[in-house]
Amino acid sequence: MQKYHELIGRWQKIMQDIQQTRQQTGATQPVQLIAVSKTFPAEEIAALFHAGQHDFGENYIQEFIDKSAHLADLPIIWHMIGHIQSNKSRIVAQRAQWVHTIDREKIARRLHDQRPPHLPPLNVCIEINIAAEKNKHGIAATKEALLTLATTITSLPRLKLRGLMCVAKADSSQKELQNQFNHMHTLLQLLNQNGFNADVLSMGMSADMNTAIGCGATHVRIGSAIFGHRQYAENK
Ligand SMILES: *Cc1c(COP(=O)(O)O)cnc(C)c1O
Repeated sequence: MQKYHELIGRWQKIMQDIQQTRQQTGATQPVQLIAVSKTFPAEEIAALFHAGQHDFGENYIQEFIDKSAHLADLPIIWHMIGHIQSNKSRIVAQRAQWVHTIDREKIARRLHDQRPPHLPPLNVCIEINIAAEKNKHGIAATKEALLTLATTITSLPRLKLRGLMCVAKADSSQKELQNQFNHMHTLLQLLNQNGFNADVLSMGMSADMNTAIGCGATHVRIGSAIFGHRQYAENK
């Protein structure tokens, strides 16, 4: 498909960058690329799927509903990476394989109750507000907040706690980025020291992917470096 030649070329470049960064930083963990397709049409997702990219991330529920319906024939692995309002959780529980943004008990319980019994448990990550920003979602980066929510999630059999997710503070210096991502790594270790079995660090976007991989990211969420600049505001 000539039309998608450039898109697929950018995707291939990111796949190469990930491997190169793993080598350069000595990262030993495998790194999964999640292609963040928010604001881009289902046709581009389909083109990338046929090129070999199976994991896609969406932020906004309505877009997720539309695209997942449109692409229902393809076995896409859908990752919800945006904030979920309680009254919109059902479709996510039905159609997503991953939710990266669990930040409160209520949403965990709803997704659990709404996860259809014939599907495997929903993979979830706890979102951490790693730089304690006022306008960001996510729990505080404290031991108590983390262990409390992790305990709730593991009591819910239709959910599977996989790890932690964050969005680094915008305009962070290289040093600040490293501090935030290293802190995430420490929190994951804390989880495991307390008897949880979590192996996922969902961190790293187009601008900070390399730093995140160097600090232990296992899942990077890449949008604009693959699809190009987004046309409308993200804060819908
Ligand atoms: C939009 C978004 C991404 C991708 O961002 P890019 O900078 O376009 O790579 C990753 N994670 C979350 C939570 C996002 O909202």
